[in-house]
Amino acid sequence: MSAEIHHFINGRPWAGRPLRTLPVFNPATGAVTGELSVAGRGEVQAAVSAARAAFSGWADTPPLRRARILNRFLTIMEERIDVLAAVVTAEHGKVLSDAKGEIQRGMEVVEFATAAPQLLKGEVTENVGRHVDSYSLRQPLGVVAGITPFNFPAMVPMWMFPVALACGNCFILKPSERDPSAALLMAEWLQEAGLPDGVFNVVHGGKEAVDALLDDPDVAAISFVGSTPIARHIYETAARTGKRCQALGGAKNHMIIMPDADLDQAVDALMGAAYGSAGERCMAISVAVPVGKRTADALIERLAPKVRDLKIGPGTDPTAEMGPLVTRQHLDRVRSYIDAGVAEGAALIVDGREFQRQGCESGYFIGGTLFDNVSTEMSIYRDEIFGPVLGVARAPDYDTAARWINEHQFGNGTSIFTRDGDAAREFAHRIRVGMIGVNIPIPVPMAFHSFGGWKASMFGDHHMHGPEGVRFYTKLKTITSRWPTGIRAGAEFVMPTMG
Ligand code: NAD
Repeated sequence: MSAEIHHFINGRPWAGRPLRTLPVFNPATGAVTGELSVAGRGEVQAAVSAARAAFSGWADTPPLRRARILNRFLTIMEERIDVLAAVVTAEHGKVLSDAKGEIQRGMEVVEFATAAPQLLKGEVTENVGRHVDSYSLRQPLGVVAGITPFNFPAMVPMWMFPVALACGNCFILKPSERDPSAALLMAEWLQEAGLPDGVFNVVHGGKEAVDALLDDPDVAAISFVGSTPIARHIYETAARTGKRCQALGGAKNHMIIMPDADLDQAVDALMGAAYGSAGERCMAISVAVPVGKRTADALIERLAPKVRDLKIGPGTDPTAEMGPLVTRQHLDRVRSYIDAGVAEGAALIVDGREFQRQGCESGYFIGGTLFDNVSTEMSIYRDEIFGPVLGVARAPDYDTAARWINEHQFGNGTSIFTRDGDAAREFAHRIRVGMIGVNIPIPVPMAFHSFGGWKASMFGDHHMHGPEGVRFYTKLKTITSRWPTGIRAGAEFVMPTMG
């Protein structure tokens, strides 16, 4: 039996008149588990109207009260994390412990946002001129929208809406059509926590819903996370229509392994970073760059047996380290990249293409895959594969390794493993990438810092959550005032100076 999946508008489930329905699958079994209503302009308009109507009341609610609602939401999330994790695993496929991990990282952003009264404090200067004071404050934008990818159906929405709501905005979430149910649970729990109707809404669907949000003059800002071509399109369209936009795109993250690195530590780090969540992470490491032949040979020797021994199974299997890919189309795409790597001349050390798990023959499983001798012109090096495929690109020296990273189109995350402080500092200083790890494979910033890449991994000026998130979701206003009013300055026709 598959469930109907509706929108959530103005505080309640909303059937609307779907343009069509789309099946939602369990990637471990291939079974259809849901029928998703796809929103057209009517549903998007209903969500925008509800959000617009709720805005002035929410914006005028004192930040401390807004924070208290987020605090209650946090308590509900803590109590029901297993329920949400099960929903994430059922539609995305990742193992349950990983699903819980992404929810916890999202909840940290909620925790950050509960500091709203502190985050929204402005600045004051007394006596900028005689009897003149100046102060600045940050006000909400209005109705803002978030468009999110399939790979973190709970965490990525939580990169956005807790900060947006804390700042006094009303929010419309358009989650991925492949795993839409986590968004609905969070909408219900926000409501239960006391959020007024219309402050948080969910519309489902794909391009039509996104286009309707982009076209709507009442949507003041768009936060997007997804693939680079769509991120670029969203950013360009939003800029043309005068909306504020932060659009995070794809990635190809390199990890340099220096000759002096602790190799066992580097191998363990690579296993988790390349194959965790079946490589469907924007911060996954997909290129290992050992420096020097001895480092490369030793790395392959230690890595290959571990890749062959990966425990792959349904996300509900507590012994599984890696689940299936999200859809059959994505499985075909990842397989075709492995074919391309072989055709382009890379050495296929571990081939995951024929992996089968007994009892899960209709699931979208693939084994861990390892290539050696990957070179920079190959498609498996240039493109984001977004699967459990790690390429080893052997660099003769550190300068070559750093140059490859700097010349790559993407600049999301990168990492160096070394015991040499000079090399680590040089790397952090010179590399053109947004998030850097030193002996840390996946350097995802904590909620109170901000997340974002460089180059084709991000379009826009503000990274997500943390202080950048507060800046993104607020407009700065500066007030200059003179008290008492009785003081006469006389008419001045030159540019006013306060000196
Ligand atoms: P995607 O670009 O296919 O979809 C993302 C969102 O855009 C979805 O909500 C989808 O419905 C919508 N969309 C799809 N096609 C559209 C179109 N033509 N017009 C308007 N909207 C459209 O991405 P995905 O496959 O869901 O997610 C994987 C991608 O997301 C990878 O490239 C990954 O690197 C990236 N990602 C990046 C980050 C980051 O922080 N940089 C984080 C997570 C995922």
